[in-house]
Amino acid sequence: MKNYQPPSFLESVNENFERAAAVSGIPKGLLAQIQTCNSIYQMNFPVKIGNQYKVVTAFRVQHSHHRLPTKGGIRYSIHVNQDEVMALAALMTYKCAIVDVPFGGAKGGVKITPWKYTEEQLERITRRYTTELIRKDFIGPGIDVPAPDYGTGSREMAWILDTYQTFNGGEIDSAGCVTGKPVNQNGIRGRTEATGRGVYYGLVQLLSYADDMKEIGLKTGMAGKTLVIQGLGNVGYYTGKICQEEGDAKIIAVSEYEGAIHSPDGIDVDKLYKFRQKTGSIMGFPGTTNMKSREQALELKCDILIPAALENQITMLNAKKIKAKIIAEAANGPVSADADAYLRDKGVIIVPDMYLNAGGVTVSYFEWLKNLSHMRFGRMEKRFNQNTYTLFAEKLEAMTGKSITAKERRMLTKGADEVDLVRSGLEETMVTAYDQIREILRRKKSVTDLRTAAFLSALNKVSSDYMNKGIFP
Ligand code: NAD
Repeated sequence: MKNYQPPSFLESVNENFERAAAVSGIPKGLLAQIQTCNSIYQMNFPVKIGNQYKVVTAFRVQHSHHRLPTKGGIRYSIHVNQDEVMALAALMTYKCAIVDVPFGGAKGGVKITPWKYTEEQLERITRRYTTELIRKDFIGPGIDVPAPDYGTGSREMAWILDTYQTFNGGEIDSAGCVTGKPVNQNGIRGRTEATGRGVYYGLVQLLSYADDMKEIGLKTGMAGKTLVIQGLGNVGYYTGKICQEEGDAKIIAVSEYEGAIHSPDGIDVDKLYKFRQKTGSIMGFPGTTNMKSREQALELKCDILIPAALENQITMLNAKKIKAKIIAEAANGPVSADADAYLRDKGVIIVPDMYLNAGGVTVSYFEWLKNLSHMRFGRMEKRFNQNTYTLFAEKLEAMTGKSITAKERRMLTKGADEVDLVRSGLEETMVTAYDQIREILRRKKSVTDLRTAAFLSALNKVSSDYMNKGIFP
């Protein structure tokens, strides 16, 4: 391992693509068209920081125009480079296809360390980046729709929206130019937690198949499963919180930038999150032991390891030490292609990123639809349903002579709110997509892992789009 250099993120994505392409039966030329990035825009712009000008390098990559708009998050990190943004944009195309979100894939990246800037400086950088996108027609509700990713959140999306609307006054659908916005600024309830909630629904579906679980020596169901989480940001925090609160899972270790903590009795992730907000670190959280390094947590014996930070966290440098039975790729590209092959051979189930973390783009799609319809989900039918269900409950009581408790009445007669509909749509999406992938894995003898099956699901859908256009008969 002395001179070992893990494959780059883009190399891993391409290697995984080619493994699936080889068994897809799709013509070579069409595969090449699907694989290539359609548009790549690198920009270097000046931003005044203090008394000086700083040149900021940034990217927007539109991987596939087979469907429009294109869609994908914006990452703020000093490690951003063109290859990384291309890899992330490609994953977005496959991700959207897998969960039947009718967009092409895209991704953006700004090469900065966000916490080194004040809020005002970040706003200036974000607004300038948006202006560059507008100048080149790289943003718009029907063109390309960004969203949050590593290092960005609803605050940045609000700045993007405001900048876009400043330049496009009167464009009626302008709110759909970006998703992941604050709820009071044309956002949607349930978007912030969406990726983590999608990870939860995906895992619940995986864990529901007794035959598949038997093969790795696990019982069905989330309850009591031991989890290790890497990264307590948006995705990691909500995944942990929802697995714990709704699935009754036990989080035995958490790894963050500053180190890792461990407790065989379980860690209350909500309290840990607040503790980190207060102290700036997860280290020393009451009832836990500090581990030697942040990497050590990944090597703990557990049922499910959830990398939710960045790419290339599990490579041949540590793959042999991984003891988890399931690796749930909440982050994009956390397992390099060579480590993936090694772990697959060892019988580890790897739930691939392009399926498992698709909850974010799914709810972004709902937000975009809400923006185009100019109306909150549930507004038309909520009261109507509530009145109908109330009448039904009263009739039931009268017919049976038995009374319904106040709690049961609340449950029975509730009309769906926006957040209820978002969660229901997300669950339906994750369950259906998992079953499609599992069906490919079961039926196709040449496919032996979930990632290749997920790729095939995506390739079948994207290639049929091209064929329907008559471009590749
Ligand atoms: P985030 O910035 O909110 O959180 C990432 C966290 O990881 C941070 O707290 C950071 O300190 C931590 N971290 C960084 N390096 C680490 C390391 N070596 N060890 C342990 N912790 C480390 O980002 P996020 O939005 O949660 O994104 C995380 C991953 O999920 C990325 O790969 C992103 O592309 C992917 N993703 C995000 C979304 C979304 O909706 N935000 C959707 C799909 C996929």
